Amino acid sequence: MYWGLSLVKDQKGKQRVSTGISPSGPIHLGNLREILTGDIIYKSLVLSEKDASFIYLCDDIDPLRKVYPFLPESYSAHVGKPLRDIPAPAGDLAYSEYFLAPFLKSIETLDVKPEVIRTGQLYAEGKFGEIIDLMIKRKEEIQNILQNISGRELEKRWFPYNPKCSKCGRINSAIPYEYSDGFVYYKCACGYEGKSDIYKDQGKLPWRLEWPAKWKILGVTIEPFGKDHGTQGGSYDTGKAISEIILNYPAPLPQMFERILLKGKGAMHSSTGVNIPATEILDFAPPEIVRYMMARVPPSRHIEFDPEAGFLNLMDEFERMIRLGSENKLDEDQRVLLRISATEKSMDDLPDYRHLTTLVQIYSKDEQIKNVLQRSGKRYSDEILALRIKQARFWVDHYAPESSKFMVSGETAPVSLNELEKKVICNFLENIDSMEGWNADLIHEAAREAIGRSSLTPSEGFVALYKAIIGKERGPRIGFFLESMERNKVKRRLSFICGVQNE
Ligand SMILES: [Zn+2]
Repeated sequence: MYWGLSLVKDQKGKQRVSTGISPSGPIHLGNLREILTGDIIYKSLVLSEKDASFIYLCDDIDPLRKVYPFLPESYSAHVGKPLRDIPAPAGDLAYSEYFLAPFLKSIETLDVKPEVIRTGQLYAEGKFGEIIDLMIKRKEEIQNILQNISGRELEKRWFPYNPKCSKCGRINSAIPYEYSDGFVYYKCACGYEGKSDIYKDQGKLPWRLEWPAKWKILGVTIEPFGKDHGTQGGSYDTGKAISEIILNYPAPLPQMFERILLKGKGAMHSSTGVNIPATEILDFAPPEIVRYMMARVPPSRHIEFDPEAGFLNLMDEFERMIRLGSENKLDEDQRVLLRISATEKSMDDLPDYRHLTTLVQIYSKDEQIKNVLQRSGKRYSDEILALRIKQARFWVDHYAPESSKFMVSGETAPVSLNELEKKVICNFLENIDSMEGWNADLIHEAAREAIGRSSLTPSEGFVALYKAIIGKERGPRIGFFLESMERNKVKRRLSFICGVQNE
């Protein structure tokens, strides 16, 4: 059974999947696994005909932890303040919204449409108030739970609420000393003394308490999270105990997910520069393939993403699956996987990505590419084709390995071929003259025949052909490649090499 369906099969009643993020910087591919895992679970619930909803929490009241490498030094004045209170590096938005906005746009393209909730707003609306009151009143009990399960001693002055100092704006430097009638009284490191109304956004729960509070407030029943939260004694374990013992709310069904590693570089982190921003993935990857990459393996397995040659292989695999799907040749699990990978746009109508990466290196204009595809009987909607061409160009410019790059040689460009190689070229030219059409199969056959009439091995023969056309020893599959070029242009190039006058 497909992992998503298997996960949700015993869930009863109204279901709510939740994921979230603390928008402290550019959101990268690794973060996409979290929200896509949530979306896959949500869609699995829908496919299982369960009553389901999906929410995405933006933890914008979390403090800025440090001056990240991508920030100017002036941000040291903002460390400790909630992200929603800090100005963005550019423009008029709040810091949190500045990093959230492009991410929300990306997930919409990925056909992920959760209800987006700002945690700061929940505090402002007083949604946490009763739970904060309860947690402060049962402070000792909670302290014991945290210490027993995490195995970590808490400080004597530990308090289940962090007030925000109304003078310096920091949410991590005020020390509470009294609670009464919904107000937490504090003294801040900046010297200010004041009080926070727990029914307003004047403070927050620490993470290990806020998480279970959110489960109860929002009715969460399933939640995917990274393995750092899922370690023994980690925040899921303490959250579960607090939820069940203190809040009398069953902890959601957990789904831990592994990381995405960048091939050859390891785990992705915003801070080390080993990452691809979520927005950039969609500059070259069709949304279906990003969904497919996350959906095809269970969350417990890490994903090694290779944006270079491996990406084309993944595209091939996915396109093969679509073809098999249209021929009704998929088993049940594969059908579900394909359905979950699909976006709203039709999938029968997608031009072969690998082929496009060849075409964009032969032609500079979209119109020429469209003509080549039409010549071989393939028609696509202008919108989809234009988008795919743009993506293929981006991939070639930014991620294509040297072995996938080429430039078609000019018709009279010099080339160094020995006599045996030259013989293959001239044999091939003769064959082209007598060919009754110009398609991949005929071209491939003509090439093999030309090599067969020479004393070179097939692989040596193909090297000769690639050297003649692109000045390299290897290239895209010869049939599809030359079919994409004008027959006369190929003839003129080969004629020049063979010293034959062309009409
Ligand atoms: Zn202060």
